[in-house]
Amino acid sequence: MTTRSPETDLGRTRRARRIGRVLTETHPDAHCELDHSDALELAVATILSAQCTDKKVNEVTPKLFARYRSAADYAGADRGEMEELIRPTGFYRNKTSSLINLGRALCERYDGEVPGRLADLVTLPGIGRKTANVILGNAFDVPGITVDTHFQRLVQRWQLTAETDPVKIEHAIGALFPKRDWTMLSHRIIFHGRRVCHARKPACGACTLAKLCPAYGTGPTEPAAAAKLLKGPRARDLAAAVGLDPDLVPQQAAAADAP
Ligand code: SF4
Repeated sequence: MTTRSPETDLGRTRRARRIGRVLTETHPDAHCELDHSDALELAVATILSAQCTDKKVNEVTPKLFARYRSAADYAGADRGEMEELIRPTGFYRNKTSSLINLGRALCERYDGEVPGRLADLVTLPGIGRKTANVILGNAFDVPGITVDTHFQRLVQRWQLTAETDPVKIEHAIGALFPKRDWTMLSHRIIFHGRRVCHARKPACGACTLAKLCPAYGTGPTEPAAAAKLLKGPRARDLAAAVGLDPDLVPQQAAAADAP
């Protein structure tokens, strides 16, 4: 993108919406990457995902969810047993405390059910605003913007906001998009951050947003070098989407664990 004069608010909103449309085409598979079947499981998985990849969380949760089926199960859990189950996700002592306390709080205050309001969710142990928005958007269909590290990095690279505080970023980006799009927009931005626009070496030369992005050139722009940086099961499709030869994408890219 060539910047001739400072972008107007309207110009920024239009560019943001264009970015949103391109992301919709680029990541048709975008979804919540934490496996879950209800609000409680999602709350638990989200707590476990702190400082851990979603992939690792998904390896641990099938056994955990089979062992603990209700808030009361978490409230009454044997600490040592739970610690062993969730140990691979790191910080397992703190996370065990959070899960047990979450179970207790749900039983004491919400009849064992996960509440569907932001104001209630953020009062629960282990659940901050980011986690609450993930739960609202994915378990209750209440539109929510999830400002994680990827989201924060990308909207700043796109110069959609100069804010650095996650809550202010949430409001600033929310104002640029229709509310009904917030949840899927969050997934798509996070997908793009994990698969294309990496923190250290973004795949600029293989990015569908190149023309809309003021940070184009932060990573390699040469096709072969950029294609090597694409990650995830659709890495070859991502290359093809910008007219690159999918064979430039190394075999292991598909299996690469996108943090
Ligand atoms: S052009 Fe580069 S910096 Fe911009 S979104 Fe794409 S990968 Fe990220």
